[in-house]
Amino acid sequence: MSYLKNLPNKDGYFGDFGGAFLPPELVPHFEEINKAYRELGRSADFLNELKYIRKHYQGRPTPVYYAHNLSKEVGAHIYLKREDLNHSGAHKLNHCMAEALLAKHMGKTKLIAETGAGQHGVALATAAAYFGMECEIHMGEIDIAKEAPNVTRMKLLGATVVPVGFGGRSLKEAVDSAFQSYVPQADTALFAIGSVVGPHPFPLMVRDFQSVVGFEAREQYLEMTGELPDHVGACVGGGSNSMGLFAGFMDDEQVVKNGVEPLGRGTKLGEHSATMTYGKPGMIHGFKCLLLEDEEGNPAPVHSIASGLDYPGVGPEHSFLKTAGKVNYHAVTDGETLDAFYKLSRLEGIIPALESSHAVAWAMKHAKEQPGCTMLINLSGRGDKDIDYVVDNFGTGEPK
Ligand SMILES: *Cc1c(COP(=O)(O)O)cnc(C)c1O
Repeated sequence: MSYLKNLPNKDGYFGDFGGAFLPPELVPHFEEINKAYRELGRSADFLNELKYIRKHYQGRPTPVYYAHNLSKEVGAHIYLKREDLNHSGAHKLNHCMAEALLAKHMGKTKLIAETGAGQHGVALATAAAYFGMECEIHMGEIDIAKEAPNVTRMKLLGATVVPVGFGGRSLKEAVDSAFQSYVPQADTALFAIGSVVGPHPFPLMVRDFQSVVGFEAREQYLEMTGELPDHVGACVGGGSNSMGLFAGFMDDEQVVKNGVEPLGRGTKLGEHSATMTYGKPGMIHGFKCLLLEDEEGNPAPVHSIASGLDYPGVGPEHSFLKTAGKVNYHAVTDGETLDAFYKLSRLEGIIPALESSHAVAWAMKHAKEQPGCTMLINLSGRGDKDIDYVVDNFGTGEPK
């Protein structure tokens, strides 16, 4: 695959974005991870074990499903890549199992990470249980209070949840806290980042680990229809499920790639998390990307109805693809997202995650602009985690 082979460059740059800006004490540890990924991560042993895990533990390949009722309703053909059926209910386990496998091949015994809403923490705790490793998850106190079921899940899976009580007590502080804890443990632990973000080589590794989504989906779609879709689409938070899907189609120029980000409650800073639409080049958590900043140049407060999408930065590869014009990025509101959440539940019997509902919402809108077109959408996760929030605040969506 020519595109995937050429990017990033050896220093982890996608055009002007990416790189690795690390405190000096972490430089040798990231060099170790880089070397391990280049050598162990491409060995036959590693790849065979990963293949076994994907098939027998995760339940891959996940199906591609033709959403026939929704398609009829909107007047275009919508196909869903069912990552909601991946073990633990979302695409995140794809990279967590692979990161944990790399840790095992490196001789590490512990996994450390931050989590926002708890989805990455749960997926990593699942991987740690599988490999018999220790797992330490840093989480802001505000998020701990909001996301109690995920905290319980992590504990049931055997992880230690470290509450973070400084600053805004949320995701950004959780990253800082997890990094601090990792530095003195880096000989025996791996820091396992939860998306295509962070210092090199994580944006590369996580993309490669998620590319299984796009390669499977391309083959499945071809088998079902004999053609390639007009469009592929996925929601973009940090950008891992979308990069995974796009990876399968990067050399198919005729397939239009669409990333969908949250416009939240409105277009003012603080009301949304639409990094691609409103962001400027900047730096966060050790890498360069498009970034939403406040007037003082600090990462801006962000909002989305989907807590997995509210990050002021975005993966460096997306930042590159946006500025190079290779992917179209769209922003949909909380309201459009809820409408898609209810529609997919009622019409297809699939309750999607609020994150994934953004991608479905875009497909429903696009159907009006291009009736009859074909769209392959990544349904990144299931919505069980969101039902209490949605029903308490907006009801069950029964027709009035
Ligand atoms: C975390 C999450 C996302 C957002 O993360 P990306 O790295 O942008 O894919 C999307 N969907 C679900 C279900 C998630 O849990």
